Amino acid sequence: MAVVGSALLSMNLMKQVCRCVLYARLSVTKEESVSIARQLQSCRSYAQARGWEVVGEFVDDGVSATANRPEERKGWAALLATGGFDAVVIWKVDRLARRVLDFLHADEALQRRGAGLVAVEDPIDMTSPQGRAFAVMLAVFGEMEAEAMRARVRAARSALLKVGRWPGGGIPFGYLSVANPDGPGRVLAKDAERIHWLAEVAAMALCGEAVNAIARWLTTEGAPVPGERKVSQSDPIWNRQTVYGLLRNPILAGMRPHNPGRGRQGARVDPFSVVRDDVGVPVIDESLAVITLDEFTQLQQLLDSRDLPQARKHGERVTTSPFLSCVARCDDCDVFLCRGTNQGRPVLSCPQCRQTIGRTALDPYLAERLLTERGGEPLGDSTVRDCWNVVKYNESAKRDILLTQLDFLYIRRGVVGRYFDEERIILAWRRSADPAHSGIGDGNCHTWLE
Ligand SMILES: [Zn+2]
Repeated sequence: MAVVGSALLSMNLMKQVCRCVLYARLSVTKEESVSIARQLQSCRSYAQARGWEVVGEFVDDGVSATANRPEERKGWAALLATGGFDAVVIWKVDRLARRVLDFLHADEALQRRGAGLVAVEDPIDMTSPQGRAFAVMLAVFGEMEAEAMRARVRAARSALLKVGRWPGGGIPFGYLSVANPDGPGRVLAKDAERIHWLAEVAAMALCGEAVNAIARWLTTEGAPVPGERKVSQSDPIWNRQTVYGLLRNPILAGMRPHNPGRGRQGARVDPFSVVRDDVGVPVIDESLAVITLDEFTQLQQLLDSRDLPQARKHGERVTTSPFLSCVARCDDCDVFLCRGTNQGRPVLSCPQCRQTIGRTALDPYLAERLLTERGGEPLGDSTVRDCWNVVKYNESAKRDILLTQLDFLYIRRGVVGRYFDEERIILAWRRSADPAHSGIGDGNCHTWLE
């Protein structure tokens, strides 16, 4: 077939063609094995056999035909910019284009220059209607082949994901890829320098913290930004989109997203499009998780409910001080109380039983108890009180200091609504400088205090 076609083609072109240029392309993915040198070599032989003079050679190395249209490639553009040839010799049609439209556009551009396209391995002849139709058909097959290749790449990715290997692509914030200890390839592991930021972000969001507030918190705290840090980038990259992306990523619960590279920049992602076992249960790698699957599900519901238009008001509410973010728990439900406002006043409330306590009195009460009862405790090179005075206006830093001293803090249901009452506070400090007591269970202390 190819022989007959080529013979036909040469008969048709032989009359006019005497000067030609060669074009070769190799994709960056090395999906094909024929090197630029070999492509050019067979094009040269082809031209030589027909007595054509080669007046130029043009190359696009490391350029994918599916991602770049011919006119966007440097080599092809340079070819079009030169003149004085009657034919362009390529090795195969797919070197020029993998999409029919791209192919036809490229051919059109050549026609306007009075040149025809010739392929060594494919019987194309763009000088007759029959040859043209046949070439289009070949291009269609090339396009189908490209689609089949994308399908193979997808299949290979899921196969890698299934066995726990990282298939490449964007690595989620808080993780890095390391050599697979159990075999070939690479696997994901927690990034010791960043994972605590991710864990904190997840905990804050579970507490009901607004996504914008988390982004601001990360920026003020100087958290490292996701991805490769660009030196020229002076603006903080932590924004709503970035944080939202983190919270939607199933890797939080140790699950593997199907398309790890996707979903950046706030693109709609399905947080449950994950690798599952044969009966459809998500495959969970505990070593990567910062929250449980239940918590992840809860978090997705929370985010979904905020996405609804009627929930906008809730999401855009005035942010409150992060001083008590993920600090106090509900005595009835044993979950963290969430920050919010009630009639314009800052409150903490239980996401489950909805009990509420006003913060106007609570925050100063806790600060005062911390300083009077624990002010003299050593902290770093100085004391709790000195550290406190240094960070007086940084609510997050104050929270960190409180947490160094706090063993637990429970809030009991109030008799009269949200009003603060000392009786509602169940608080225990850590045993000072006594590591033997660090393992004391919350439950025990709790009973003891009651
Ligand atoms: Zn509760």
